[in-house]
Amino acid sequence: MTGNRRIAIYPGSFDPLTLGHDDIVRRALKLADGVVIAVAERTTQAKDPACPLDRRVEIISEVYADEPSVEVVQFSGLLVDFARARGARLIVRGLRAVSDFEYEFQMALMNRSLWPEIEVIFMAPATNYTFLSSSLVREVASLGGDVSAFVPPIVLDHLVEYYGPRVAGR
Ligand code: ADP
Repeated sequence: MTGNRRIAIYPGSFDPLTLGHDDIVRRALKLADGVVIAVAERTTQAKDPACPLDRRVEIISEVYADEPSVEVVQFSGLLVDFARARGARLIVRGLRAVSDFEYEFQMALMNRSLWPEIEVIFMAPATNYTFLSSSLVREVASLGGDVSAFVPPIVLDHLVEYYGPRVAGR
């Protein structure tokens, strides 16, 4: 993914990847030639990761195995350094509600002061995903609730392995 192609970086912890994340990836693909899902160990917001980073990268890669425009990589360190190394000037983040706004706005301005060439775009998901978060999926799954409506099938299989068949409504 080099040359003149416009690459968007979509960073996050994706623990797990939800249909809300997938919705943003697909919207970003309308604006960019390729999307790099940059999976971080943890961010300032994510607590108690349920799934190890390398496993998360494996699962998400499987979700997008048939999508050549989507690449999944793990990253650590400064996001702007990662973006610059990839030749990408576009960062995509999802905005669900006003509650996301303050943190996202601060991060966007900080990243731009670290590298003025970066642009951050915020995308709103489909309405039915605005309530969805990885932490909520983890919480419901850990209590044995059915999360099959909220994650891609490959992610659901992994959650079944981890939490048992009830999380798939079986
Ligand atoms: P982080 O730990 O960096 O917040 P997440 O994996 O929770 O990472 O989220 C990554 C990005 O995806 C963030 O921009 C977040 O706002 C966005 N996001 C998460 N869930 C949804 C959703 N249901 N709809 C739209 N965007 C979402």
